[in-house]
Amino acid sequence: MVVIGEHRHTQVHVDLQAIKHNINEEMTRKDPLTELWAVVKANGYGHGIIQVAQAAKQAGATGFCVAVLDEALALRQAGITAPILVLGIVEPEFAAVIAEHDISVAVGSTDWLAQAAAVLAANQVAQPLHVHVALDTGMGRIGFQTPAELADAVNVLRAANSPFDFEGIFTHFATADQADDTYFMHQLSNWKALIAVVDELPRYVHVSNSATSLWHQACNGNVIRFGVALYGLNPSGTELSAPYHLQPALSLTAELAFVKKLARGKSISYGATYTAAQDEWIGTVPIGYADGYERRLQGFHVLVDGQVCEIVGRVCMDQLMVRLPKAYPVGTKVTLVGTDGDQTISLQDVADYCGTIHYEIACGLATRLPRVYTDGESD
Ligand SMILES: *Cc1c(COP(=O)(O)O)cnc(C)c1O
Repeated sequence: MVVIGEHRHTQVHVDLQAIKHNINEEMTRKDPLTELWAVVKANGYGHGIIQVAQAAKQAGATGFCVAVLDEALALRQAGITAPILVLGIVEPEFAAVIAEHDISVAVGSTDWLAQAAAVLAANQVAQPLHVHVALDTGMGRIGFQTPAELADAVNVLRAANSPFDFEGIFTHFATADQADDTYFMHQLSNWKALIAVVDELPRYVHVSNSATSLWHQACNGNVIRFGVALYGLNPSGTELSAPYHLQPALSLTAELAFVKKLARGKSISYGATYTAAQDEWIGTVPIGYADGYERRLQGFHVLVDGQVCEIVGRVCMDQLMVRLPKAYPVGTKVTLVGTDGDQTISLQDVADYCGTIHYEIACGLATRLPRVYTDGESD
């Protein structure tokens, strides 16, 4: 089978040592009785789900979180036997697959439990289906909202002959990455009021994404769902500083594919939106918005030979043009994210220019960009 991206020098580089560094920092900082589960949804935030999961496991992660069932199945197929929690709602028709692969799922309604129980019975599934009860304390996304609904669900889960293993209970904060903690405190008090309904708490009790663990560590339960920070990205963007150095794991590079002198007055790319004010050296870089390098990045910059070079004209689907300070040979390295000489472009810089967050840029990097891994001794 052809792997699309195999013959391509436009590449996402992932430094697994950086991932291990970030996890190690969190491992030493958290309560020793609290487990760290690595969140590797969305292809490991664009970094590669399997490689990230393996690096995280080596650094001490004892479980994994994903968003959709197939991500969990991919981890199982790669030989990961640790707990895997699907954070989103899986369609109950897949209850047998979930149980047979020993996967845990978030549940936010008793309807879901009833439908899943019927599927398990119809398929004569022997294994229990592991459930983490989701509580909606103010995120407004999934989960039980009232003590009465929660109590009903716990009764179903703990009924005699229940096909379920009530393994966890959790919530998710909407504003843990903000300096103002008013809404966070409101959610925290909702959480405390809701879990008071459960006589005996399940094995895993968890509320913390990266931001919660970094800035509200006191309320961590016995698991943290460590996501964006493990990739070395600050969950708050630039609003709050992290308690330790987060080391970004990802860089994105290409090579000049074509270089030419453009005469004064000539234009570049679709719409002819850029016209050379004088004779200029123009390099063509083989990456575009189909790779997740957004069209809005016209006017932003890349690094060539340690120098900042403007992206001129519209970003195309597969190519873009940059203005070079002088002629460079075809094959010269172009850094779109990362460091060259004493210049750095971070995912945060790219996101700022696009008016979005680094999460979106990282997980938007297309699969046709090959991922190249390094592990260790990088300076
Ligand atoms: C994505 C997600 C996380 C991880 O969040 P980060 O901000 O990346 O740490 C944790 N919990 C839930 C429920 C999520 O959806």
